[in-house]
Amino acid sequence: MASGPAILDDSISGKPHLSVEVPCYNEESVLAECARRLAAACSAVVGDDYELVFVNDGSRDATWDVLLSLAAASRQIVAINLSRNQGHQSAVTAGLSLSRGERVLMIDADLQDPPELLGEMMAAMDAGADVVYGQRVARDGEGLFKRATAFVFYRILSMFSEVDIPKDTGDFRLMTRTVVDSLNQMPEQHRFVRGMVAWLGFTQVPLRYSRQRRFAGRTKYSAAKMIRFAIDAVTSFSIAPLRLSSLLAVFCFILAGGLGVWVLYAWLRLRVLQGWTSLAILFLFFSGVQLLMLGVIGEYVGRTYVEAKRRPLFVIREVVTQRSLVADRQPR
Ligand code: UDP
Ligand code: MG
Repeated sequence: MASGPAILDDSISGKPHLSVEVPCYNEESVLAECARRLAAACSAVVGDDYELVFVNDGSRDATWDVLLSLAAASRQIVAINLSRNQGHQSAVTAGLSLSRGERVLMIDADLQDPPELLGEMMAAMDAGADVVYGQRVARDGEGLFKRATAFVFYRILSMFSEVDIPKDTGDFRLMTRTVVDSLNQMPEQHRFVRGMVAWLGFTQVPLRYSRQRRFAGRTKYSAAKMIRFAIDAVTSFSIAPLRLSSLLAVFCFILAGGLGVWVLYAWLRLRVLQGWTSLAILFLFFSGVQLLMLGVIGEYVGRTYVEAKRRPLFVIREVVTQRSLVADRQPR
């Protein structure tokens, strides 16, 4: 499923109880604080029986250098370097594949999701949950635009989607090994990880929390990236947009029927020659509908094409850790 160098050998280092996986793209300014708070939160809950798996997603700043020095200073830290910027969801996928813990926490590097909630999440898992996902009740320090688009996005997604994807959740979640293994077996290229976890089933419980301001740096999600993410989300979980063409066709037939009756009536009774305005409007409207549906079909055909290539989901340049070393083994 992935290509890259050999990976940590369990027989040498033993599997930790908890893995935390952190995707990082141009996060030089947050990483030291992130590692410090994660380490504190983890040792409060599991002692030193944890690993922090940082995935550098082709950053252009000093992220990788910072990760190297963090890894040199702590035996708990695993630093993974992807071969280029492969996108947030691919970075997350790489981290999940290489995490070895009995439980895995997914968290962003920017500390918008407080690591200190780990204790509560672990308790919920002890009580029987397989997945504990963070659900945002408030979003501090995020602009109106971000909050409004996120709000609309989650509502549209749940309208279209065939599985129940919880609203207002990110990738901040704790999962059992069984869930992570199942997730790693899903081969799809366009990965909308939070939806894939929802699709898996198991016992999933929310943990409500308030999302913090970014510790430092700026969001890596531009408007264009957000739109791509939203299209991925909808097309990965629903073929409803494809069915839209049938719905539109029914609508057009009804419209055409009504219009036909009116045109006939006008021709017979009112002796009016119908103008070109209505024709022009109809022409524009129906070509618009047809082009829209061609575009929708194109989205799905494109995705089928990408899936058919069966490329690896991520490409790793190197894995660095104090404990390293390393038998020939592919990521799970
Ligand atoms: N990220 C990544 N690759 C990318 C974009 C983002 O690994 O191409 C990481 C980023 O470093 C952060 C997480 O994904 O840890 C979420 O990104 P961000 O905080 O910018 O998104 P937001 O919270 O604003 O939605
Ligand atoms: Mg963020």
